[in-house]
Amino acid sequence: MGSEIPQLQMFFFPFMAHGHMIPTLDMAKLFATRGVKSTIITTPLNVSFFSKTIERSKEYGIEIDVKTLKFPTVEAGLPEGCENADSVPINMMNKFFLATAMLQEPLEQLLQECKPDCLVADMFFPWATDAANKFGIPRLVFHGTSVFSLCASEFIRLHEPQKKVQSDSEPFVVPNLPGDIKMTRKQLPDHMKFDFEQDFHKLVDASKESEVKSYGVIVNSFYELEAAYADCYRNVLGRRAWHIGPVSLCNRATEEKAERGKKSAIDEHECLKWLDSKKPNSVIYICFGSMASFTSAQLKEIAMALEASQQQFIWVVRRQENNNEEDEDWLPEGFEKRMEGRGIIIRGWAPQVLILEHEAVGGFVTHCGWNSTLEGVSAGVPMVTWPVAAEQFYNEKLVTEVLKIGVGVGVQQWVKTVGDFVKKEAIEKAVKEIMKGDKAEEMRNRAKALAEAAKRAVDKGGSSYSDLNALIEELNLRRRH
Ligand code: UDP
Repeated sequence: MGSEIPQLQMFFFPFMAHGHMIPTLDMAKLFATRGVKSTIITTPLNVSFFSKTIERSKEYGIEIDVKTLKFPTVEAGLPEGCENADSVPINMMNKFFLATAMLQEPLEQLLQECKPDCLVADMFFPWATDAANKFGIPRLVFHGTSVFSLCASEFIRLHEPQKKVQSDSEPFVVPNLPGDIKMTRKQLPDHMKFDFEQDFHKLVDASKESEVKSYGVIVNSFYELEAAYADCYRNVLGRRAWHIGPVSLCNRATEEKAERGKKSAIDEHECLKWLDSKKPNSVIYICFGSMASFTSAQLKEIAMALEASQQQFIWVVRRQENNNEEDEDWLPEGFEKRMEGRGIIIRGWAPQVLILEHEAVGGFVTHCGWNSTLEGVSAGVPMVTWPVAAEQFYNEKLVTEVLKIGVGVGVQQWVKTVGDFVKKEAIEKAVKEIMKGDKAEEMRNRAKALAEAAKRAVDKGGSSYSDLNALIEELNLRRRH
């Protein structure tokens, strides 16, 4: 014995979108706190989204490195400066995916040069498995979603129940998925419905194939939250998976929680002061993540619903940068004046985790992006589910039918990024349902119990803590053989 074991080196390569970069950075931090040398791989214009957190982590003695790969914006025919999905015009997403595939060669050069012990690469980079294999490096896949949705989407992909119904709105049962979960064709992503989405379909197929060939899958969830689905993923679908979340719980200090992703459009202290002045569970938080955006008409409808619900609120409004509608067109006349003291609108980026964890916040209207959903679970708040795109309709089912900690606002149609229109009355009803009355209380109690379970999972000896240890140990052992 006696000889020092060299530090385990891991590379983390997220897809360039906030919903992927934020949990990947948390994950890199988590591994670094367990003594792993963590390095983030990204492109030059995305570095700034990581820098502040990395700087701050240093103050806590956590070292995270960053390495960059030049992004082939011009070669792929993208506008200059387009290195993050949130700045890509929707009709150019295919080009963006094409550009990411061109990163295989520079990634291989980097892997050859640095020889990390493991590469954790995003599901959107199916070619990363072959790239890593060339150098004998194990590749782990990171999907960034629930294991419930991983199972549901895979069973639908394999068995195609959507082809056996007569109409878009006729429900079908998701085959093999525990819980008798029903979906409709309308709720499925376009690539599962239309041939013209072939490129994306191919990417998803390649992603699933590479998942099988990879060393395994890291899941940002905890076993107790979706035990039946975690078992199904491992035992029925045969995947090797480690559940190490909720990764956002690695952020303990106020500053760490406030500085995830982009710079907040509101001073966090001001925001906290406002929340401090409110009673527990009396404020509803509304936010639809980093990609979804709504029309002016829909925003106006939300405003009217919030006013009619008589609830206090923090509402995050994301407007597309190239939107040329009059800036404030979407607000009913005199809305902000009437809402003074009762509600805050954040135009741009909100310190979401900080807000959700405040005891004054008693509910969350969410688009069911997995990070937001899990952050809501970790904060113990009931949710109004308003899925828009991606795998959000699966996550809605988990929240409303399996965990029973939320109610649906009633959207039926998967729509890429701009939400399906919902009327004021439906929004108002759903908001009231999670904030007031016995049903709300029951959901809140269940949500609080899950939040406690989430904390136990990441604490020493908890399921996620142990899974993370097991993975690190296995990678260490593998290296010695
Ligand atoms: N987020 C945030 N402030 C915002 C909007 C989003 O901090 O104003 C964070 C949120 O906490 C979550 C991530 O951005 O960690 C969004 O990921 P999610 O999977 O919920 O949705 P996506 O943006 O991928 O649709």
